[in-house]
Amino acid sequence: MAKNIFVFCEQRDGQIQNVALELIGVARELAEKTGEKVNAVLLGHGVTDKADELIAHGADTVYVVDHENLEKFVTEPYAQAMTHIARKYEPSVILFGATSIGRDLAPRLSARLRTGLTADCTKLEMDEEGNLFMTRPAFGGNLFATIICPDHRPQMSTVRPGVMKKLEADPARVGEVVAESVEWDASKFAVTVLEEVKAEKGEANIEDAKILVSCGRGVKNLESAHELASKIKGSAVSSSRTLVDIGLMDHERQVGQTGKTVRPEAYLAFGISGAIQHLAGMEESEFIVAVNTDKNAPIFKVANLGIVADAEAVFKNLNKLL
Ligand code: FAD
Repeated sequence: MAKNIFVFCEQRDGQIQNVALELIGVARELAEKTGEKVNAVLLGHGVTDKADELIAHGADTVYVVDHENLEKFVTEPYAQAMTHIARKYEPSVILFGATSIGRDLAPRLSARLRTGLTADCTKLEMDEEGNLFMTRPAFGGNLFATIICPDHRPQMSTVRPGVMKKLEADPARVGEVVAESVEWDASKFAVTVLEEVKAEKGEANIEDAKILVSCGRGVKNLESAHELASKIKGSAVSSSRTLVDIGLMDHERQVGQTGKTVRPEAYLAFGISGAIQHLAGMEESEFIVAVNTDKNAPIFKVANLGIVADAEAVFKNLNKLL
């Protein structure tokens, strides 16, 4: 019988990604309903020592496939390793981050296991029978749909980074680490990574930044936003979709339903109206400051502090002060 909640724990260059820890956090909440275990799956090469970090954040057991075939993310070997784990342990639930890796891997696995997958969830709940209620924005973000998968197991979901909260690490937590070996079918390995070219590192990734200086159509001078971000440690510039659509900002920096979900300590929204699709990506921020010339702009409904003013004037003053 299918049981226990499994989390695919994404690592990049041996670093466990925040989203993996967030998923273990929500999995612990779900497991409380049914008394099931939270099990992590760690795939890679030379990554076994990272299992302790997953246990400290709430995993009961970590299944590790540590193999040279998994050195870099390539869909087929990762899909084979996940299929091996899923067939052997028959999880009730498998969670993935809605990252480029999770979005690639999860559908492969769901097709191989002949089960459903709900992508891009923003909320997960479970009943006592172990049915997972997977909620995600639908119809352009105008409503939320809750989806269930009653006839098949595992129940599978991808969850956006930054939506769930990770638990504080407890280094004293005890768990089990199980090394798994996979019978590879190398005849299916059609892709080989020859070289990896990393994008130049500029400002911090917007999902990791503690403070976001976020700009919308009302910002006429992006230089002022970058200047402000350069003066605040741990900050980065993000934007609404409008600036991405007109080519002024990279899609990597877009916040919202079709961009990224962020939960910084402070979200400074300059010249952003607060459309529902934008709010979907930032309303969980700890403290929201909105600067807008229109006192009726919807962004003020979610703001902790609202400033009715010209964005450029506020940038100028802040840049002078800092
Ligand atoms: P506007 O709505 O044009 O607002 C500009 C604001 O700037 C106004 O409130 C104005 O009062 C203010 N302003 C003007 N001048 C100044 C000034 N000098 N100083 C201060 N304030 C000023 N949007 C996203 O952001 N992210 C998404 O992921 C996203 N996904 C979408 C998905 C779908 C399916 C759809 C249909 C839409 C999506 N959108 C998304 C678009 C969204 O609906 C809005 O159109 C967009 O967020 C508006 O961006 P904005 O706030 O920058 O621009």
